[in-house]
Parts: sequence; structure tokens; C-alpha cells
Amino acid sequence: MSGDLAIRALILGGTTEAVRLAQACAAIPELDVISSLAGRTRAPVAPPGAVRIGGFGGADGLERYLREHAIDRLVDATHPFAVRIGRNALLACRAAGVPRLRLLRPPWQRQPGDRWIEVDSLAEAARRLPQPARIFLSVGHSDLGAFAGLQQWFLVRTIEPADRCLANARWLAERGPFRLEDELALLREHRVDVLVTKASGGEATYPKLAAARQLGLPVIMVRRPPPPEGPLVDNVAAALAWLGHRPTLAGRST
Ligand code: NAP
Repeated sequence: MSGDLAIRALILGGTTEAVRLAQACAAIPELDVISSLAGRTRAPVAPPGAVRIGGFGGADGLERYLREHAIDRLVDATHPFAVRIGRNALLACRAAGVPRLRLLRPPWQRQPGDRWIEVDSLAEAARRLPQPARIFLSVGHSDLGAFAGLQQWFLVRTIEPADRCLANARWLAERGPFRLEDELALLREHRVDVLVTKASGGEATYPKLAAARQLGLPVIMVRRPPPPEGPLVDNVAAALAWLGHRPTLAGRST
């Protein structure tokens, strides 16, 4: 439900956290929420409420959108590696005078027994791969170019079907959440030597790391890019509070 007094919020999504925030907002009549998706996945998990799909046309386009749709607040709940939209949101909100919050899921924490090798880029991950080796590549379908031309054997798992750009590979198109026992079985079945992943965080894809730890396998982990400047929270309840709806506390915070 929306009305003249409602706060109109734009959630930049494409993540589980963005869907959860939209779900929480849907129960609050004073919040009028629009979720925005880039349109990269064929069957995205649909948040409740209004949804728009596709790019805005850079920071200028997003600024125009904010003005034309009278957006009061923006929550950037995009993926930790979605750098361009984060930068655009910063610039657009600054120009349009719209308060902006970054909702960024917490990173995974290294546990005893983890054999993580942290690197700064996918290109560096590709350079650090042993040869010969059997590699579990758990990255986005648009990240695979960094590994093209390599001769190792790859098990490639992406949400979207990927361009088959690797010479020796088995291809899986699957969306989490994944279970530890299945991840263990997958790593064993394909006799994986090394796992490659981005430091995305989140529960849905964590079991592969627990499985690698259990099997004593090294993990090449691409570090996160730094988040854009400005206010940042790591959970949906805090983002809801920022939008002015903290169940346990009175008043709003900006
Ligand atoms: P990106 O490089 O930061 O953004 C590229 C362009 O895509 C942006 O400039 C913008 O186009 C458009 N865009 C991105 N997110 C959008 C959104 N939520 N709504 C409308 N337009 C959006 O982003 P990316 O890394 O390609 O990720 C695209 C989407 O997939 C994001 O929504 C992100 O949350 C999700 N995702 C990304 C990853 C990842 O590993 N990067 C993983 C899982 C999910 P315009 O400039 O035309 O506005």
C-alpha cells in the first residue's frame, strides 16, 4: 500500500538481502518500495512489490530516475562485486540529494583448517592455479573469460548457463542454496584439487567452503573490492531501521 505520506524507497537488488529487505518493507504501509534488477538472470527471485528491470543508463540516468519517480531514499543492496552500479548510486544520490545506504552482506570468516589463498582479481586467481590440476570454478558466468585458454580441467558452476569458453570443462548451471553433503559429494566425484571463488559472503554458497575445509583443499579467494564511501550496514534489520522502521526503537534515522 502507498500513500502521499509514504516514504518511497528504491532498492538496488540482485541479491538475497535485497529480496529480504523488500519482503520486510512490504509489511509496512508507510513504505512504498520499488526494487530494481539489472536483468542478468533469466528467472530472478522476484521481490514482492513493484519491480523494474534493466540499467538506468549510467549515473545520469539513475539521477533522472530518482527525480522522475520522487524517490526519497535509496538502498544499494547489490552484490559485493557490483562496483559500477554502486558508484553510479553514490553519484546519482549525491546529485539528486537522495539519502543512500549501502547494504552489504558480511564477508565469510576464515576458520581453523581453511587453506585460503587470497588474491586481488580473477586474473590473479587464474595465474595462481597449479598445473596440472582439477579446478572447481564457482564464479559468475561473466567472470569466465579470465580463465580462457588455460589447460587445467575445470568444473564450472554458474547460475546462468555459461559460454563454453574453456577447453576442458564440465558445465553446471545451478542456483544455491547448496548443502554441505552435496558439495562434499561434488568435490569427491570430480576429484577436485582447488576451489576458486569470489569472496561474496552469504549462507547460500558457504557450504562449498566448509566442504573444501573438510577435504583439506586449497581455496583461491578473490578479495572484495572496497565498498563506495558513505553509510553502510550489513543486515536487513539495520537497513529497515535506516528507512525509518525500527520495530524496537521509536523515530527515524537517516
Ligand atoms: P555492475 O558491474 O556494478 O553494473 C553494471 C551495470 O548494470 C550498471 O552500470 C547498471 O547499468 C546495471 N545494473 C547493475 N545492477 C543493477 C540494478 N540492481 N538495477 C538496475 N541496473 C543495474 O553490476 P554486475 O556486477 O554486472 O551485477 C549486475 C547485477 O547482478 C547486480 O544487480 C548485482 O547485485 C547482481 N549480482 C552480481 C554478482 C557479481 O558477482 N557481480 C553476483 C550476483 C548478483 P546502467 O549503468 O545502465 O544503469
